[in-house]
Amino acid sequence: MSNKQIYRLRAPVSGREAIAPAKAGVVYRDSETGEELEPVAEVLPLSPSTSRLPRTPINLVVCRRCEQLTGRDLATCEFCGLPTG
Ligand SMILES: [Zn+2]
Repeated sequence: MSNKQIYRLRAPVSGREAIAPAKAGVVYRDSETGEELEPVAEVLPLSPSTSRLPRTPINLVVCRRCEQLTGRDLATCEFCGLPTG
């Protein structure tokens, strides 16, 4: 699993956006317009969560024990450790 934080990136002129892992000091460009993309938000879950799925309703399950929302791609609940599935 990678610990790279995923960002919402935006091109300031066209408003085109991308969701991608990004590192500080690296310039990212829109693949079609070539515009420089600026990070505008971090996407949950925050690094170093082991989940790689953005926090959207379709990517979450409710834990049977603690009733917290946890990533669908995790083997155990990230709050109480109960195995999922
Ligand atoms: Zn739980």
